[in-house]
Amino acid sequence: MKNNPRKLALKILAEFGIDDPKDVSIEDIIYALNIPLKYSNLTNCDGRIIHNSGKSLIVVNENIKFDTRRNFTLAHELGHYLMHRNELIQHVDDSASLAWYDTQNRTKISQQEIEANTFAAEILLPSHLFKKEVFKQPFDPSLIRDISDKYNVSRSSVIYRFLELGNHPICVFYTKDNKVSYWRRSNDFNFKIKDCTRIPPPDDSVAAEFFDSATIYTTTESKQEISKSTWLEVKEDYADDIFYEYCLVHSESNLAISVIWED
Ligand SMILES: [Zn+2]
Repeated sequence: MKNNPRKLALKILAEFGIDDPKDVSIEDIIYALNIPLKYSNLTNCDGRIIHNSGKSLIVVNENIKFDTRRNFTLAHELGHYLMHRNELIQHVDDSASLAWYDTQNRTKISQQEIEANTFAAEILLPSHLFKKEVFKQPFDPSLIRDISDKYNVSRSSVIYRFLELGNHPICVFYTKDNKVSYWRRSNDFNFKIKDCTRIPPPDDSVAAEFFDSATIYTTTESKQEISKSTWLEVKEDYADDIFYEYCLVHSESNLAISVIWED
């Protein structure tokens, strides 16, 4: 990465003398940096940044229902301002770009999204605190929700942090418009993943239930049992072993983020 979004986030926190990220108001930081910010009625997107002739404007959708999502969007746009303002003219973000972490994809736009998302995640919840939160914790949707609520960060960003900093093997699949775009796994996830990119998610996956029949599970049912063979290449003897899938969906962006793990 050309920029170092983590270092930059910590630098901003230090400059503003913020020790506890729960005290961070990204809005205040944006005002203090003299970046014009406006809330508008945006359709089909959460935020955008406009930049021209040395001037910038951050616009955030006034209709975002959840604080976590609004806060993450503000931090993401601040990241674009600090790292990419000389390269952007107009940039629009929806829940798909705000959850984009495909490190294999080398296009400039996707690199910028990863950098803005990494910056946002780090400024809202620095890595050393995240590591404490997940220390010796097995993966569970409730853990993701608890961290997300406590620090006002998006659930998708907590999932991707867990992938890097958690202590439990997981694999994450990002499916947009009923096609798996990419997957990422933690270093300790030692299973062979089925060839599934650029095609619909497996028939018996929770992601397929969302795309085929608009099924969205409630909080209490978000840990769904699947088979080991649903997303993985396994010998027949192990095909029916129990695996779990937690599928985070964004209906308006036709996006599903599936986490799979074994207890
Ligand atoms: Zn963006």
